[in-house]
Amino acid sequence: MPGPLQQTILVIENNPETAASLTKQAIAFGFNVELCDSCATAWSYFQKELPRLVIIECHLPDEESLTLCQQIRGTNKGSYCTILMVANKLPVIDQTRALMAGANYCMDRPVQEAPLSNWFTVAKQGMSDLLSIEQTVDKIDHYKQELEDVNDQLESSIERANQLAMDAEKAYVEINQIFKTVSGGIALINKDCEIIRHNATFLAMAGASASEAKTRKCYETFHSCLCNTPECPLTKIKNGQKRVESQIEKNLPNGEKIYYSIISTPFHGLVGELMGMVEHITDITTRVEAEQALKESEIRYRELSIVDELTGLFNKRHFNETLRQETDRANRYNLPLTMFIMDIDNFKHFNDTYGHAEGDRVLGAMGKIITASIRTTDRGNRYGGEEFTVILPNTTAQDAIPVAERVRLSFAAHDFFPRDGEKVNKTVSLGITQLQPNDTPTSFLKRADKNLYEAKESGKNRYILDSQ
Ligand code: GH3
Ligand code: MG
Ligand code: MG
Repeated sequence: MPGPLQQTILVIENNPETAASLTKQAIAFGFNVELCDSCATAWSYFQKELPRLVIIECHLPDEESLTLCQQIRGTNKGSYCTILMVANKLPVIDQTRALMAGANYCMDRPVQEAPLSNWFTVAKQGMSDLLSIEQTVDKIDHYKQELEDVNDQLESSIERANQLAMDAEKAYVEINQIFKTVSGGIALINKDCEIIRHNATFLAMAGASASEAKTRKCYETFHSCLCNTPECPLTKIKNGQKRVESQIEKNLPNGEKIYYSIISTPFHGLVGELMGMVEHITDITTRVEAEQALKESEIRYRELSIVDELTGLFNKRHFNETLRQETDRANRYNLPLTMFIMDIDNFKHFNDTYGHAEGDRVLGAMGKIITASIRTTDRGNRYGGEEFTVILPNTTAQDAIPVAERVRLSFAAHDFFPRDGEKVNKTVSLGITQLQPNDTPTSFLKRADKNLYEAKESGKNRYILDSQ
């Protein structure tokens, strides 16, 4: 149904009588009437209120009225307007001009009630039809606008998608390049332990084929001691760690070991969600082996500088140092300290008979016997050729006797076979002494040596303790 304004008829009429009669009839048809006495005021009213019925009283040829007609038709809503021209009986040519200018109908003046009433009836129906057309057109316009908006959105989405596709392609090319040129193995592993991308070096390191890497889990393809433990890099990355550095070793079928350094970092999806991790694996076998060799040689060097290689006991230099330290300590804290010095009996003869190498065996055996016979706090030393010392901290001479005897008896019981079928046993003589007040390392050692000399002099294969 037309709204109140759309039921308004704009009447342009400067004759009050005609205006009154038109208004009366219009009201009888349920219209409102807006009366204007000039085309100018009518035009400004029209633009403001857009009435859909217009009656123009004119005296054609009246250019002003024709112009108003054209102006109304020229507006946006002009085509939904019904215009009636009322004039003195018009010749056909002028009627044509009025219709051309946009009037729907021309009526002769004075306006008769019956034709005007007919016109109102027709105009009312026409107005209703036009209104529904207008609403339909409005809807179409609205849909058109919506369509255009959707189109715009689609276009910009397509543009964005194209840009993304181009970026993705560029990234793909770059990633390919990285995977090919990076030194070491590289693998992209998703949260489900699947290898979704890798380079050829990774396959070589894993000893797997591309199809195996594709169908197996990462812990099957590249198994290590970290797999299925809390140290697993993927577990750590899933727990939020940003970088995991690990080192693993693998045993090759030929028994050799290979060492890898693995740096694992997370990789994320478009909205920052964790997708998995990138593992960069480097073969560091050469470095690890060099480090190990260096470590071993350092240990060896340190040992060599204080240890006698033949017997495994401390050397003379270290013995002198220990003697000084232990003497100081015993004096300072008034603790007992005992030492014994021993010398293999008739060793020259053994050497001369069986050779130097066999003599070395005897010295080596003595080293082992001393080490096995003393406590860990005691220090066994090779003092010279076939001479040995043992320092026993916190020990009296009496308590040292069983130790000395253990060494002597074990050595005497040891069978040597310097020649096939020939069993030889050797003996050792010992001088035992306890640190005395005012002893220096030298006086302490000298007394032990004196006791050894006495042991030799009194028949060998025995110990001599300080004569009190
Ligand atoms: P004693 O019972 O009086 O001690 O007589 P001995 O023959 O054992 O004593 P001596 O001092 O005359 O001889 C020691 C020998 O020890 C001389 C040397 O050939 C031998 N000797 C010293 N150092 C080494 C060594 O490192 N290896 C070997 N095989 N023999 C050594
Ligand atoms: Mg000697
Ligand atoms: Mg000797």
